[in-house]
Amino acid sequence: MELNDEAVKLEREFAAEMRKDPKISALYKKVRDGTATTEDVTEYASLSAKKMAERIRKRLLELYPEKKVSYEDVTELLPPTEKRNYKNIAELYKALQTALNRQNGLNLGAAAADYPEDRYDGLNRLISEMDDIEEEFSSVELSFESASMSTVDDSIHDNADYQSRLGLKTTVIREFHPEETDQSAHHEKGYWECPWCKEVAGEYDYDEVKGSGNDVWRRHDGCHCVITFKAEKRTETVYNGIRPRAPDRNIIEKRQRQGIRR
Ligand SMILES: [Zn+2]
Repeated sequence: MELNDEAVKLEREFAAEMRKDPKISALYKKVRDGTATTEDVTEYASLSAKKMAERIRKRLLELYPEKKVSYEDVTELLPPTEKRNYKNIAELYKALQTALNRQNGLNLGAAAADYPEDRYDGLNRLISEMDDIEEEFSSVELSFESASMSTVDDSIHDNADYQSRLGLKTTVIREFHPEETDQSAHHEKGYWECPWCKEVAGEYDYDEVKGSGNDVWRRHDGCHCVITFKAEKRTETVYNGIRPRAPDRNIIEKRQRQGIRR
């Protein structure tokens, strides 16, 4: 087996599958029409990650009937597909943010965050440590989603930072979205309202939350909250009443005890 060829094939299969997905096409159309929002790009990142994870799982099981794969093989096979996923999200985000800037009367370009090498490498390592890919692969599916969504979040952070440094009054908005779950222990309605996410939702002055370790930028696996920002020209006489609020430390500590990760 030529790993290199397999890696290219995997990337192509993933790209083809993305192209024929009606939900994905609808999201691209919204970006082209100028009606897309950050929520749409966040949803795209989540859908794309699910497709990528499923495609990778299937391929690994076909190529490795022993259901185990070495780190050397994983790091040759998966990166082209992981980079394709990143590139799709980064390009979509850039198109969206450029359109949002224009709608906001700002003639500004937009940038996407760099490829999150560490996150994907961590994922590849986890896969290589599995004794049985078929049994264990589902444990990394949400991490694929988190890696995908981090490109949107990091890009939002970078662009908010850029616009704030240009002197615009920049507000970060974190919208709470309940998570779909099949774990009925959490919620019998099929979704889970994470108390930590509920608490951290709100509007914040960018300068108050600009550290990338601030809670407003953090996610646990499976989190579908939408993080976005708006920027306005400053007027010295107007105070619009937005106050930064600190999340409840007890809830954060509880979350940490439960081992909910970013
Ligand atoms: Zn959340």
